[in-house]
Amino acid sequence: MIIVGSGPAGAATALALVGADPGIAGRIVVLEKARHPRPKVCAGGLIPHALATLDTLGVGLVVPHVMVDRARVDVPGARVEVEGSRFCAVVRRDELDASLVAAVRARGVEVREDEKVTALARVTGGIEITTTRDTYTTPILVGADGSGSLVRRRLVDGPERGHGEVPRAIMADLRLGAGASSWDGHARARYDFDFRAVVRGLAGYAWAFPCLIDGAPHVNAGVYAWRRTGVDLVALLRELQGELGGAPVEHRAAPIRCFGAAAFTAPHVLLVGDAAGVEPLMGEGISFALEYGLWAAAEIAAALRRRDYAFAAAEERFRRGWVGRKLRRLEQAATMFYGPGARLWLGIAARWKGAQEVGLRWYNGVDGWDRRSGWEALRTAVRWSLGRRGAV
Ligand SMILES: Cc1cc2nc3c(=O)[nH]c(=O)nc-3n(C[C@H](O)[C@H](O)[C@H](O)COP(=O)(O)OP(=O)(O)OC[C@H]3O[C@@H](n4cnc5c(N)ncnc54)[C@H](O)[C@@H]3O)c2cc1C
Repeated sequence: MIIVGSGPAGAATALALVGADPGIAGRIVVLEKARHPRPKVCAGGLIPHALATLDTLGVGLVVPHVMVDRARVDVPGARVEVEGSRFCAVVRRDELDASLVAAVRARGVEVREDEKVTALARVTGGIEITTTRDTYTTPILVGADGSGSLVRRRLVDGPERGHGEVPRAIMADLRLGAGASSWDGHARARYDFDFRAVVRGLAGYAWAFPCLIDGAPHVNAGVYAWRRTGVDLVALLRELQGELGGAPVEHRAAPIRCFGAAAFTAPHVLLVGDAAGVEPLMGEGISFALEYGLWAAAEIAAALRRRDYAFAAAEERFRRGWVGRKLRRLEQAATMFYGPGARLWLGIAARWKGAQEVGLRWYNGVDGWDRRSGWEALRTAVRWSLGRRGAV
């Protein structure tokens, strides 16, 4: 089988397949257009669920990172500060992805770098893949080729179910220290989220994350827009850079495909990660990329047993499972927090401590919280607000 793309989604698919059946390694080829460590436009925030899934995949987190224990959230008219532990580990994506690919190779899977997929066609019994170096035919193709997925465009998209939202995020890395940014979040192990621009029409937020670049402390600052509303993201990022201090730095931008109604399977084809669609509220994609990998591996193992590569019910199983439910809830949350009632919902979220505690645990996937239903989470938030923690 062939996996196109070796970001977290492609690597997780390969790791999960080999984790379940080490003998399958020789039957997997990963095609990657770049060479690791390759640059990737991403803030590199790993929520606790992503860290737990890296453990499940048997790789853990082996690259330099900054552990975040505090959050500061600004909404129109209010600021919330939350303290806890291990809210997020911030990595550099070139380092994380290279470490995952090294683990994939160490398990015996062939990863062919500098080999770009340029054409895809359906043939009898599978898919024909043309690359810059070769031509392959396979009964199982995993499209892990990111938000601009060629696999999606050539083999999965159809007019009947749309193409899904493709939000944009832009970011810049600012050096900290004398003559540079004096942001205090790095020293305080804190990350900042700023939703104040929703009143100016932004369907999204700005962030500041502590990170390490070649061992030196930096702040990664960015702006995420779930929908294009005409707001100038570059101007917003410049404002944020102004607040953080230091010399202005060039920004980099990339799209993030969101989970929605668009299909992510087709006969002989599974899409994973950004190619399939990740979470719309914050644009957090790494934990979902890893979860898609686990799902794809389970579907492929079942397909190999049955010798049936139609993947007819695979998407339905994903959507009905807890990951699909979590993605749907996050889509609903995006319509609340970035829609016409944004000010109201953000105001409630900023003032309701019980909802903050439950919401953070649910979002971060701590101790399986994200497997709970929305009603259960709401009931728990109400109980906690009334001081009845024992009742949970
Ligand atoms: C500015 C920004 C900030 C973000 N911050 C965060 C964050 O803090 N936390 C978080 O969880 N998520 C974040 N995300 C989202 C996250 O980066 C993605 O969801 C994640 O990278 C998806 O992983 P993936 O493996 O699906 O795709 P990718 O990481 O994009 O990997 C796709 C791979 O496929 C390869 N490829 C593409 N086309 C071809 C081809 N034709 N042939 C061969 N290879 C190909 C690419 O080279 C690449 O290596 C952010 C995104 C942006 C844009």
